Amino acid sequence: ELLRLRNQKDITADGKEIRLLANIGNLDDLNTVLYYGAAGIGLLRSEFQYLGRENYPRENELFRAYKKVAEDMEGRPAVIRTVDLGADRQADYMAIPDEVNPMMGNRGIRLCLDRKKMFKAQLRAIYRASAYGNISLMYPMITSEEELDEIEELIREVKKGLDEKNIPYKNIRTGIMIETPAAVMISEELGKRVDFLSLGTNDLTQYTLAMDRQNLLLKHKYNDHHPALVKMIRMVTEAGHRSGCNVYICGELAADSNLTEEFIQMGIDGLSVVPACVLPVRKAIRSAYADEVNRTEESREDK
Ligand code: PEP
Ligand code: MG
Repeated sequence: ELLRLRNQKDITADGKEIRLLANIGNLDDLNTVLYYGAAGIGLLRSEFQYLGRENYPRENELFRAYKKVAEDMEGRPAVIRTVDLGADRQADYMAIPDEVNPMMGNRGIRLCLDRKKMFKAQLRAIYRASAYGNISLMYPMITSEEELDEIEELIREVKKGLDEKNIPYKNIRTGIMIETPAAVMISEELGKRVDFLSLGTNDLTQYTLAMDRQNLLLKHKYNDHHPALVKMIRMVTEAGHRSGCNVYICGELAADSNLTEEFIQMGIDGLSVVPACVLPVRKAIRSAYADEVNRTEESREDK
């Protein structure tokens, strides 16, 4: 029954279009994105090219992978998240010093800004691949505007280098993952500097509840439906819209079809979920009402 929805639009019962995208963590998943009929890729976790190996990937290797993503998506959007290493995502060759509290440590954008050569290679690869499709860039673990200043400076350098060699690229859309409470609180300011915001509810839960997302002892207390999270999602959606951004959710919570209607009524522009959840969430979108006043007596009974 769900498979019938593969070619259907993501449109609510009262006619609002929602962007339903897929999260992937390697190139093998590209087929499933298309198979389930997602509108594109809302989160490509780019760590797969850095982990389980002996050395940093070279720019060309990164470029070939991103070019394939761009081409296989045939014009559909594909959001490449810059690499989120550190904490539980590291390999020996990275020689990341031990930290007492790695989840609060040098991870995500912080590590990239510490290792600019590594980061620039990835940015160059992404910009080069942008010429072949509809790619966007997204930054993980942002907590301040100063980080954006540094990223923008690097991007200027990358573009200058490409211009000098006449290598084609597009001026791609950029976005920020909102996955720290600091980013939530300054989401309007951050939103003014990018094209979209995407809520990473996995990390946002752990940093809001101050509970390590991998600590099994806390598993029964770890509540990603905590009212604080729901409130934050609403805040970010409103702040993002004030700043002119589209706002998406790409954490696991996006796949909870019991919340789909609530997210839509908050004003969320899109959801990005694992490919296997695309159709269940599509079903929830298609029976949801973006505006409660549109629900008729008849449809109320249907629910
Ligand atoms: C998140 O934190 O919600 C997220 C999508 O990123 P990751 O799970 O890769 O940390
Ligand atoms: Mg995260």
